[in-house]
Amino acid sequence: MRYLLLSDIHSNLEGLYTCLELAAGKYDQAVCLGDLVGYGPNPNEVVDKIRNLCKVVIRGNHDKACCGIDDAAEFNPYARMATDWTHQNLTQHNLDYLRSLPMGPAVMNGFIMVHGSPNDEDEYILGPAQALPLLRGPEAQLVCFGHTHLQGGFTLNSEARFHSVHIPPTPDGLTLTVPLEDGTRYLINPGSVGQPRDRDWRVGFAILDLDRKEVEYYRTPYEVAKTQAKMEKAGLPLPLYRRLELGR
Ligand code: ZN
Repeated sequence: MRYLLLSDIHSNLEGLYTCLELAAGKYDQAVCLGDLVGYGPNPNEVVDKIRNLCKVVIRGNHDKACCGIDDAAEFNPYARMATDWTHQNLTQHNLDYLRSLPMGPAVMNGFIMVHGSPNDEDEYILGPAQALPLLRGPEAQLVCFGHTHLQGGFTLNSEARFHSVHIPPTPDGLTLTVPLEDGTRYLINPGSVGQPRDRDWRVGFAILDLDRKEVEYYRTPYEVAKTQAKMEKAGLPLPLYRRLELGR
């Protein structure tokens, strides 16, 4: 079984379609680790697409804020403005869909899906301080997470060796293949489909192949200027569309 792992799409339709084009024919089932909306200009189009495409979808913190489950009090002013804009522009149908999304973890056959971390859907797994206790903990051997918008992840092997997965600055397309070894534990972040923050503006996703026992990381350029122009036209804050071309 090959799973397409999508995360942190953030209403970026160009990013989503570019990822899906590159992933076409390479997976059996698509899943989404949350944050369908927030920041970008196409919340309804993205929700419509993900609802039809993905077998399993869990909610992210921006999904909660944009549909009114959370009050976005912890967001910075720009993110709050985008949250308000998204809330006003979502159809009732899509607001209801976002409200219905389950909280992670979602237990799949052979792995676990979370937005932030298995302990707290809003926690950021940024480095060993957060990753090591999880890798040593009772959770499944393989956890897929998002929320940080940083493609890569963390591993702990049977000899207790900790390793950060770094994506090399390779050409577009398949950037790294990580084999899944028996006895090693994995925290896998597929990267962000709609707003990368690892200083690489190209959008990212991953394919988890449980038969070949490997994770493939992908990175691809997209029509970022088109997304930015839509955001400007919608009146979304300038820093939110500038950051797309900077990848941060
Ligand atoms: Zn996000």
